[in-house]
Amino acid sequence: IDPTLGVRRPCRVMILVNPHSGRGQALHLFTGHMQGMLTEAAVPYTLVITEHQNHAREVVRKADLSQWDALVIMSGDGLLFEVINGLMEREDWREAIQTPLGILPGGSGNALAASVHHYSQSPPAWNEELLLSCGFMLCKGLVGSLDLVSVHLASRQRLFSFLSLAWGFVADVDIESEKYRHVGAIRFLMGTLVRLASLRVYQGKLAYLPVKEVDGKARVLVDSLLPDLDQPVPESWTVVREEDFVLVLAIYQSHLAEDLWTAPGAMADDGLIHLFYVTAGISRPALLRLFLAMEKGAHMACGCPHLVYEKVKALRLEPVSPQGMITVDGEMVEYGPVQAQIHPGLHHPPTAW
Ligand code: ADP
Ligand code: MG
Repeated sequence: IDPTLGVRRPCRVMILVNPHSGRGQALHLFTGHMQGMLTEAAVPYTLVITEHQNHAREVVRKADLSQWDALVIMSGDGLLFEVINGLMEREDWREAIQTPLGILPGGSGNALAASVHHYSQSPPAWNEELLLSCGFMLCKGLVGSLDLVSVHLASRQRLFSFLSLAWGFVADVDIESEKYRHVGAIRFLMGTLVRLASLRVYQGKLAYLPVKEVDGKARVLVDSLLPDLDQPVPESWTVVREEDFVLVLAIYQSHLAEDLWTAPGAMADDGLIHLFYVTAGISRPALLRLFLAMEKGAHMACGCPHLVYEKVKALRLEPVSPQGMITVDGEMVEYGPVQAQIHPGLHHPPTAW
């Protein structure tokens, strides 16, 4: 194998498995599909089975990273969210976040796996086929950089996000469909149908910094684009006139789920937040049509006047509705004002590991 292709063997890989992700089959899928592949490819690995929420976060926060060439999760997006935040909580976060990361889809929400598969220019794949594709990429040791977004919450907490920030319909579906997790990825379609039946409007203020305003070379971890949450947004920001929404979704990867190609133009390190919002007044059939069209990435071609798409560097959302849900990478976070900014290519692993 040509080492200039970014491949070095042997490498030591820590594989974190969430046995409860998806339909509770991640471990079974690992032994059935991945173990043999990794052995054949002579990739030495250590399996860590998570015992509780935030276990993976604690493991990577304390790990001696010089011992590992890559950290891989076998779960849904939620476990990678833990790993990235665990790395960013370390004192040596600047080096730690450059550790090559991998994802093997074992959850019900496998958005990053579907996105990475899409970036590899392979034809669409689902379920076990997607897992095999990600397994091959892992065995080949292919790496690339990834944008991360820092998210500020009202309590002053700062989180790092690799996938999405959602409020309204999308966040509600994600969290409410947890109870159907035994059906696998189709839980999102079920959740969508249930939520459509009780469609509601979410009131709030949305503002963003359009892409053309900055050059995007923010390499330091000061969130230089974000004022304090209790200060008004700068003049250069666009304040959305509408305050009645059905959903607000900021996404920085191509896929929101295995079968939702939400941001067709998105790349792993394009330095962009792809901001979508749907304003109130959209009919149920029109909203359903958008989600069905999303499977083929064709929602923008629906000509829906309620759907708006902007490429942005930063955004702020201030919910006015007293109740609701906000998710970051599919995980529920504190409800309230929230703002975020992109850090282009913050996860930038060395090309050879
Ligand atoms: P899914 O796509 O099926 O939701 P995730 O990887 O997103 O899978 O995991 C779902 C949730 O489970 C996340 O909040 C994650 O932090 C949490 N989690 C991780 N390990 C465990 C565990 N051993 N037991 C319970 N929850 C866990
Ligand atoms: Mg999840």
